[in-house]
Order: sequence, then C-alpha cells, then structure tokens
Amino acid sequence: NTRVLTGITTSGTPHLGNYAGAIRPSIQASLLPGVDAFYFMADYHALIKCDDPQRIARSRLEIAATWIAAGLDPEKVTFYRQSDIPEIPELCWMLTCVTAKGLMNRAHAYKASVDQNIARHAEPDDGINMGLFSYPILMAADILMFNAHKVPVGRDQIQHLEMTRDIAQRFNNLYGRGTDFFVLPDVQIDDDVATLPGLDGRKMSKSYDNTIPLFEGGSKALRAAVKRIVTDSREPGQAKDAEGSHLYMLYRAFATPSEARSFREQLEAGMGWGDAKDALSDRIEQDLAPMRERYADLMAHPERIEDILQAGAGKARRLSQPLMERLREAVGLRTTP
Ligand code: ATP
Repeated sequence: NTRVLTGITTSGTPHLGNYAGAIRPSIQASLLPGVDAFYFMADYHALIKCDDPQRIARSRLEIAATWIAAGLDPEKVTFYRQSDIPEIPELCWMLTCVTAKGLMNRAHAYKASVDQNIARHAEPDDGINMGLFSYPILMAADILMFNAHKVPVGRDQIQHLEMTRDIAQRFNNLYGRGTDFFVLPDVQIDDDVATLPGLDGRKMSKSYDNTIPLFEGGSKALRAAVKRIVTDSREPGQAKDAEGSHLYMLYRAFATPSEARSFREQLEAGMGWGDAKDALSDRIEQDLAPMRERYADLMAHPERIEDILQAGAGKARRLSQPLMERLREAVGLRTTP
C-alpha cells in the first residue's frame, strides 16, 4: 500500500484554504484503494509561531473536529496528534545530529525571515527562534517516522521535502549497514488544488489573520468574512476581470467547472461585487452547511474528540515504537559493545 501523510498546524482556526487545499483532497485520497493515510495535528510545529497556549489548545480541538466533520473515518486512517507520539521529537533529535547546518541555512522559510529583517535594517536573525530555523528536520521526522511514500504539499514545501530525502539518505548511509531504515518520500503536487487567497489578497493563512473561517462562527461569520474580501472599484454593470479576481478563485475551489464558467461569465457581463459575494457565500454554504452541524456537535463533546485522538495515537505508536527501538540500537543507544 502507498502511505500518504498530511498535517495541519494547530496555530488558529481552520479556514477555507485548509479545507480546499488539504482536508478535502486528503479525505478523497483516503478513500482510494491501496492507500494508507496518516493525518495529524501538527502541534509541535504550532509552537514555532504561536506562544498563546489557549489559541493552540482551542485550535487543536477545532482542527480535529473539522477533519471528522468533513468526513474523515478515524477507523480507516491513522489520525493523531503529533505531541501524543513521543517518538517524533526523539527521532527529530537523531536526525538533527546528522543534518548539516548549511542545509538549514538554505531553507526557504528561514531565508525569507532573514530577508525581511535585512529589508528593515534589523539583525539578520532578529526574532528568529531555533524552531523556525530547524523546522524542516521536525517535518522530516513526521514523514520518516511513518515512512510515508507520498506527501501532498504546496509548491512552497518542495524544498523541505527534498531536505527530508537528503536527511533520510544520510541516516541510511551512516547507520543502515545495507538495510535502509527510511523510504525516500516523494512530493505530490496536485495542480487542481489552488492556493486560496485570503481577505487581503495574500495566501490565506492562520498566522496572517486574513482567513475565512470554515465552521467557526456559523454561516454568519462566513458571510461577514466574504463581504470583507478586497475587490477593485468597478461598479455594477462594468465588466470585471474574473480570472484575476480573488472571488473567482475562491468560487472555483468549491464549484463544478460549469458553475465556475457561469460565475465567470456573469462577472464579465458586469455582475456587481456585492452580488458576486452573495453568490460565493451561497455556493460555499451549500457544501459546508451539513458538515457544520456535525462540527458543532463534536465541539460540544470534546471528550469524544479526545477518545478518537487517543485511539489514533495508539495506532500510530504501534508503528513508531518498534521503529524507534531499531533506531536506538542502530545509533548505539541500546547495544552494549
Ligand atoms: P500557518 O499560518 O500556521 O502556517 P496555514 O493556515 O498557512 O497555517 P498549515 O497548517 O501550514 O496552513 O497548512 C495545512 C495545509 O493546508 C497544508 O497542506 C497547506 O498546503 C494547506 N493550505 C494552507 N493554506 C492554504 C491556502 N491558502 N490555500 C490552499 N491550501 C492551503
């Protein structure tokens, strides 16, 4: 079977981008024959960018409830919280010790932060913690722990996947003695999955506070957020540049191709932005309303979510514990000379 792995950082309320870019396609993938799916809440990753404990705890609950409400079957997939698997940080340390610092110096996320500092004449490493610097190694541990073959990611993550392969290969060469501990994972880029823009036009992202919440706040919050999407100043009756508009990108992520075509034609024929926003909210609501009920029910019973996560952690650790035993032995932490 092909093992596929996806994580979502517990740094805020899940949004339309998380749903269309990660949750919906991975639930569809988990239903395919021959696929073993691993889905997790990346709460150690959240600590890199978020020092608000309540936000992290709340986000963890919201993201877990979202996965389940969206149709994930915890019996069929392995669904767990990263911090319930103590073997992950242990593996992360082993991998850290075989990773060249120079490799991390080249990581995009770190370099982007350095560039921002330089642009504002600050020290290059100002405000950058070691978690951000070495997070590709934690990501490698997430992937290699379950020997995932395929990792569906956005284009910005391709480099980090290459780093995972580098690190895995280095570990295999150093300690494998003919047997490979780690599979070299492949990225899976799905061109049909677009990166959704947020309210301000940047990528919709929990840490930019520019999101349209998926379920939280009900349909009222969704409609209110859609109303805040920035549009140009063209009046009703004037033709709009549909292809270039954020509303159309969002609409297309939820509609069928023929619905999307008709929406585009209406915009080009002069539909006003207000009407377009109503049509967008209606279309999204059509998909989300039934799931939102399940979501609300789960959020009212956090103990049910916890039970599901504990069962998932048990399933995951049946794989991570024996692998870690072998790795401890391979590096010399268990054998006596
Ligand atoms: P953070 O700001 O904490 O990084 P995020 O909301 O940008 O959070 P992640 O938790 O890092 O998202 O990503 C979880 C998954 O959601 C990833 O597979 C990612 O590709 C997908 N995703 C995140 N934002 C978008 C978006 N705007 N459009 C499409 N997919 C997205």
